[in-house]
Amino acid sequence: MNEHLLKILIIGDGNVGKSSFLHRYVNGQFNKTYKMTMGVDYAVKLLHWSDKEKVRLQLWDIAGQERFISMNRVYYKGALGCVVMFDVTSSASFLSCRHWKRDLDNKAMLPNGESIPCILLANKCDLPQRVVPPDSIDRFSKANGFIAWMEISVKENKNVGEAMRRLVQEILSV
Ligand code: GDP
Repeated sequence: MNEHLLKILIIGDGNVGKSSFLHRYVNGQFNKTYKMTMGVDYAVKLLHWSDKEKVRLQLWDIAGQERFISMNRVYYKGALGCVVMFDVTSSASFLSCRHWKRDLDNKAMLPNGESIPCILLANKCDLPQRVVPPDSIDRFSKANGFIAWMEISVKENKNVGEAMRRLVQEILSV
């Protein structure tokens, strides 16, 4: 049995749903009263990927950052994959994704010098007051080197596991 240890970062503006995503993915719950904490939240999830492979995910969520800030290199060190998240009801959170991705590409690299696989997640797609249209997301995702983008709703548990599987698949294929 092969076991892969993967450090994965979850970045994006405050209030887009990163902590809820982590909580949902790891514990299977959506907690409305989940509070923002300062610093970094950390969780581990074990996946039985195939008959021969187990994947241990180390998920790092920057908590308590309202807007984009340049992150400390220590946070990025050893990361093999990344989730950049925004909220489809906030165009500011979408615009910030450019800065988050740039900061990531400047500071995190695979041992071969390539940028780490990164998926763009458009959260809160359950809400009717959406302001970021799919064609903008698609263009942005392609222009900025994301492996893919997906619409998700952490609240309705839509595409949460699928998004992580897509990212892990890409990491393991690099
Ligand atoms: P973070 O600051 O990025 O970690 O965001 P949180 O996880 O704290 O979520 C911010 C707010 O958005 C909370 O009130 C969540 O309950 C809410 N939220 C998170 N995901 C969703 C979602 O998919 N749909 C809706 N409607 N609300 C969500």
